[in-house]
Amino acid sequence: MKIGVCLKQVPGTTKVEVDPQTGVLKRDGVDAKLNPFDLYALETALRMKATVPDTSVCAVTMGPPQSEEIIREAYMTGADDGVILSDRRFAGSDVLATSWTLSQGLTLVGPFDLIICGKQTTDGDTAQVGAELAEFLGIPHLCNVTAIEELNEEFLTAVMDLPGHVQRVKVKLPCLITVEKGIFEPRLPSFRRKLATADRPIRRIGLDELPDREARHYGLDGSPTQVARIFPPESNQVRETWTGSGRELADRAFAWLKEHKFLQQEG
Ligand SMILES: Cc1cc2nc3c(=O)[nH]c(=O)nc-3n(C[C@H](O)[C@H](O)[C@H](O)COP(=O)(O)OP(=O)(O)OC[C@H]3O[C@@H](n4cnc5c(N)ncnc54)[C@H](O)[C@@H]3O)c2cc1C
Repeated sequence: MKIGVCLKQVPGTTKVEVDPQTGVLKRDGVDAKLNPFDLYALETALRMKATVPDTSVCAVTMGPPQSEEIIREAYMTGADDGVILSDRRFAGSDVLATSWTLSQGLTLVGPFDLIICGKQTTDGDTAQVGAELAEFLGIPHLCNVTAIEELNEEFLTAVMDLPGHVQRVKVKLPCLITVEKGIFEPRLPSFRRKLATADRPIRRIGLDELPDREARHYGLDGSPTQVARIFPPESNQVRETWTGSGRELADRAFAWLKEHKFLQQEG
């Protein structure tokens, strides 16, 4: 069985500047780390590798050249192969363009029986790439997976934590899952593996090697959404002290909540 795990490198700090022209995060030289949710995606892939004989795990990332670091981290943790989709023309990708690029890369180095993503990232945080990637690959997907009950060469049975209810689903492979934090306890990278995999190659793939070589489908050109502005929410500390009877205070609070649209107007 061939498992692909999608890993993203995210800023290790919230102090990240945005390019005023493109609305894209300036990632060069910024402290970076493996997206926390993807630690659980990687751990899930390694546990499934231990479950089904003759299974390999390939770690895949789309990002600037320095995101090779997270593939090295995946090698130190137990991944077998690594791929980085990197090309200046991928810069500024929104969710659609990121999902398309990943689908092209996974198609080129696949096919995969199971693709595992984290539920979301800590920078874009849209939790949409997994679903869109599955659509582009034409395979079913399960999201917010909190437990995998069964996996064999043909089927996967998993539990999804959905708003308001939990669903147990059996799905035919190939499929894609996005995993929740806590599905397994992520193992730590091992120093022994660091030494053993130090020279292991990482396949770097650019736009000109992908099945679809239309540059307008990638990066800013291929992105219907652009981040206009990122700014911290305003915080203010306005304080008012109200006095009066319980009835008066309740009426006043009700009126204030309505006025500030916390409550719907009747009729
Ligand atoms: C503050 C901010 C707001 C943004 N808002 C939007 C928006 O509203 N709409 C929009 O289309 N784009 C938006 N973007 C751009 C978007 O973040 C990027 O396109 C990003 O590459 C993918 O989206 P995400 O980070 O939300 O991923 P998510 O959907 O949250 O990621 C889910 C999983 O997909 C996989 N994955 C995601 N990116 C990669 C990657 N590069 N390589 C490998 N695996 C990956 C990982 O397994 C990850 O856990 C925003 C970016 C920022 C920084």
